Amino acid sequence: MRLRNNPNAKQMLEQHPTYVILEPHFYKNRFATLFNNDNPIHIEIGMGKGDFIINMAKQNPTINYIGIEKYDSVLVVALSKLLEQEHISNLKLICLDIAYVMEVFAENEIDQLYLNFSDPWPKKRHAKRRLTHEKYLSMYQEILSENGKIIFKTDHRSLFEFSLISMNQYNMSFLDICLDLHHSDGYEDNIETEYEKKFSKNGPIYRLEAQFIKWKGC
Ligand code: SAH
Repeated sequence: MRLRNNPNAKQMLEQHPTYVILEPHFYKNRFATLFNNDNPIHIEIGMGKGDFIINMAKQNPTINYIGIEKYDSVLVVALSKLLEQEHISNLKLICLDIAYVMEVFAENEIDQLYLNFSDPWPKKRHAKRRLTHEKYLSMYQEILSENGKIIFKTDHRSLFEFSLISMNQYNMSFLDICLDLHHSDGYEDNIETEYEKKFSKNGPIYRLEAQFIKWKGC
C-alpha cells in the first residue's frame, strides 16, 4: 500500500511515543519491558491501516501486539485510528521494512506472526520480494519462538500457491489450510483486514497456519 507521501507523517509519529516505537532496535531482546509483562508477543508484518491488529489487541488483552509497516504515510493512518480509541496498552507500532527485522527482534522473541494480504509481486523476477519467499522465512524462523506460528491470509491465489510451495520446501508443517475463509465453518472469530473487506467480494480468501518443523540448532 502506497499512500500519497505525507510530509507530516514523521513528525506525527514522533509525537506519540506511547504507541510508536521510534528506535525499535533499542528494544531488541527486551520488548517485554515495553509492555511491562511477559505475555506472548504477536506481530503483523505489513499492517497497512491497522484495523486487524487494533481489533486483535482489543479482543486479546493478554497478548502483546506489534504492528509493523514499511511506509510512515501508511503507519500514521493506523496511528490516527488508534488515537480515536481508549488507550490500548498491549499494542505498539513500528515503521520498518521487514528486510531489517533481524536488527530489531532477537532469536525466539516473537510468538506468532501474521501476514495479511501481502503484496503479491506477480512478476517472476520479483519473487524474492514476496514476504513468504524463503529469504524471509529464514528470518521468521530466527525470531519465532519454538512452536511459533505464521498465519497468512490473502485473496491472491498465485501468491497463496507460491507460499504453500515455499513453506513446504522450507520444511514447515501446515497446521491448517483454508481455501475459502468466509464460507467455511470454524473461523467465526476471524478479524477482517481492510484489504479483506475490499477483496472478499471478488472471490475466496485463502488462509494458512504453518510452523517450522525442525527447531533450529537441532
Ligand atoms: N495488512 C493490510 C495491508 C495489506 S497491503 C490489510 O490486509 O489490509 C500490504 C502492506 O504491507 C502495505 O501497507 C505495505 O506498505 C506493507 N509492506 C510491503 N512490504 C513491506 C515490508 N517489506 N515491510 C513492512 N511492510 C511492508
